[in-house]
Amino acid sequence: MRVLMVEDEADLAILVCGGLAREGFAVDIAATLAEAREAVASVRYDVVLLDLTLPDGDGLDLLRQWRRQQNPTPVVVLTARDSLDEKVAGLNVGADDYLGKPYAVAELVARVRAIRRRPAGALGVVLKAGNLKFDTGTSAVTVGEAALPLPRRELALLEVLMRRVGQVVTRQAIENSLYGFDDIVDSNAMEASVSRLRKRLIVAEATATIHTVRGVGYMMTSEKPVDDLR
Ligand code: CA
Repeated sequence: MRVLMVEDEADLAILVCGGLAREGFAVDIAATLAEAREAVASVRYDVVLLDLTLPDGDGLDLLRQWRRQQNPTPVVVLTARDSLDEKVAGLNVGADDYLGKPYAVAELVARVRAIRRRPAGALGVVLKAGNLKFDTGTSAVTVGEAALPLPRRELALLEVLMRRVGQVVTRQAIENSLYGFDDIVDSNAMEASVSRLRKRLIVAEATATIHTVRGVGYMMTSEKPVDDLR
């Protein structure tokens, strides 16, 4: 789950990012409309959190532009401009939700989760591979009927693999899903996460398997391991 926070107040952005990161979201920060445009052009975000009063313009203009371009990414508008007129304007332009400043980080997290659970979008679906299921709305993973608790990073890894069962997912795509822009990507850390997740799936008797595609990335299949793929 990757989130873009468009916010020019650095202290606030860092505070909120900390709260979202603890919930397992990978968060990038854009401090201007220009940075937000660039980020959205290069990464597919699950949710964008959009401040309206930015140094180089009005966030609503950016939202209007994205919607004109048929960009369906859910957007939560976060702003001190909390009068009813502005709220209505934001929703009319295509915001999915609206939260007036100051807000509690816990409430923001709840709103982001609620947007993920909406059935209309690509979010909030149950991904399946063999007897393994991943509910992207609640982040609950089950093998058969049994719950499989996973650490946050492995949850994010499993989600990206299960969204593309039977297809090779490149290391770059996995890194994009797991890390924020500013993190130093450590390929050993990614390999270690894959290795731990793979062992957990075996111990839990999941029929889905993570295959290593040497030099390229990883692929999940819904069957038990086949010798020539290992
Ligand atoms: Ca601002």
